Amino acid sequence: MLIDGKAISQQIKDELKEKTAALKEKGIEVTLAVILVGEDPASQVYVRNKKKACEYIGYNSLSYELPADTTQEKLLELIEELNNRKDVNGILVQMPLPSHIDEKTVINAIDPKKDVDGFHPMNVGALVVGDKGFVSCTPAGVIQLIKRGLPDYDISGKECVIIGRSNIVGKPMSLLMLRENATVTIAHSRTKDLEKVCKRADIIIAAVGKAGVITKDHVKEGAVVIDVGINRNAEGKLCGDVCFDEVSAIAGAITPVPGGVGPMTIAMLMNNCYEAALNEMS
Ligand code: NDP
Repeated sequence: MLIDGKAISQQIKDELKEKTAALKEKGIEVTLAVILVGEDPASQVYVRNKKKACEYIGYNSLSYELPADTTQEKLLELIEELNNRKDVNGILVQMPLPSHIDEKTVINAIDPKKDVDGFHPMNVGALVVGDKGFVSCTPAGVIQLIKRGLPDYDISGKECVIIGRSNIVGKPMSLLMLRENATVTIAHSRTKDLEKVCKRADIIIAAVGKAGVITKDHVKEGAVVIDVGINRNAEGKLCGDVCFDEVSAIAGAITPVPGGVGPMTIAMLMNNCYEAALNEMS
């Protein structure tokens, strides 16, 4: 069974569109500020898609496109200004940043209440201890993909193997799966016998960034396979971490690339923006 991330993300955006219209009637607007430093083509596409999603749902989007030689000090000044603006609910700084700017310093400068990417240590800490806070969008999107794509599937008690331990995908993913009562294993580049570790999983979440790293030999028959990876194959076509053709023949459910996790990331960002506006009200 194919889990359709495009359709599920559209569903989430449509729900948000309706809720945003209702907020507008009460005189409340949702505003996301997006900062892009430099001219990385992939980042430009991501930023454009985020602005398009804001437009579709009915949010205001403020766009700051700064030259690649912008100093860290200037960037921090802009973040401070946006932190203090009452009309801005969410602030997103598109990563990666040019090498002369320290990403951690920038993330830490964003007001945690406006950190809709969920990268600030306060929000990460909230996730660890089970408090309310913004959750990193890609892992949050994976949970929605499973819950909405497989409504009768119960994550509780399942063996979940996550491959990858980055701060933006692997680690928060493991915490979210734990919150759903899965039994969680995190694999990474030093994991011995990845095939054996993966083979016991009911749910495999691949977030490696290497085309074809997960083959049919890693997958138990009937497992749910979520492919977070975005890579280009030898022909330059987009593909995930999972060998789709051979794995889809034995998996119980699988996400495609493109059209799986990717669209969910933006949908969950939009959801975080809505939550930020609601938090402001309370
Ligand atoms: P990172 O490079 O930060 O992390 C990759 C992880 O994979 C690391 O933990 C690394 O281990 C592990 N790894 C590398 N090689 C192997 C291997 N051979 N076997 C097992 N583990 C391995 O990447 P990200 O987490 O940022 O992203 C992962 C992928 O997801 C990328 O393709 C990225 O483009 C994609 N992505 C997709 C998004 C979406 O919206 N769909 C959003 C964000 C990311 P170690 O820690 O030991 O080095």
